[in-house]
Amino acid sequence: MNLRCSIELAARYKAGSQIARVLSEDWCSRELYCPACDSNRISRSRTNTPAIDFTCPKCEESFQLKSLRNWNPNKVVDAGYSAMIRAIRSDTAPNLLLLQYTSEWCVENVLLIPRVFFTESTIEKRKPLNSTARRAGWIGCNILLSGIPADGKIGIVSCGVSEPTGRVRSEFERVNGLAELPPTLRGWTVDVLNVIRRLGKRRFSLRELYQMETELQLLHPNNRNTRPKIRQQLQVLRDIGLINFEGRGYYTLEA
Ligand SMILES: [Zn+2]
Repeated sequence: MNLRCSIELAARYKAGSQIARVLSEDWCSRELYCPACDSNRISRSRTNTPAIDFTCPKCEESFQLKSLRNWNPNKVVDAGYSAMIRAIRSDTAPNLLLLQYTSEWCVENVLLIPRVFFTESTIEKRKPLNSTARRAGWIGCNILLSGIPADGKIGIVSCGVSEPTGRVRSEFERVNGLAELPPTLRGWTVDVLNVIRRLGKRRFSLRELYQMETELQLLHPNNRNTRPKIRQQLQVLRDIGLINFEGRGYYTLEA
């Protein structure tokens, strides 16, 4: 499927973010397919859940859309902190679509982050709004994209060109094993996978992971048994097919 990436040909006006929102929602309902099944469309959500913008009419997978002119590869501003933490704990956070558009109103990048990659360590609490704000005291959050491994950043459109649909769907399918894990365990699994990815190589050793121990400890301050936890997570990653055990403390990432 080749996505037509122009959001709106006639948008020469200086448009505010509200217009960008309308145009990008319109583009998604016109062009986007479901990455989770073979449905060639996703539809605007009819539920009253503010975080859910689209649902798949076939498999009911839900999606939130964020459209931005510029994006920071490390973090993206999200809505309320406590609502997000509740959604993570109850395993109801939607998949996220990050859409970046150009000043000419073309879709430059669309990145899909499967919902299983939202964990408590990827959510950063922002400062409460100050007393002069309309919603004084309200606490928002940032999604730390840097805490999400490459496996959880699936390009649908990259540099204005749509990625092959089959590849997007197989990348989504590949990490679907994470959905089987309870959210309390999944946080650790995603963090360990992120650390493995950051080693930057396909074959790695337990010793190399132990060198990242402090970083994992900081993400999970209440846990005092980081090394056993790392070993446990390696087994989990093997069981869901993301890594292989080679023996003698060596592992490889599944391609
Ligand atoms: Zn679907």
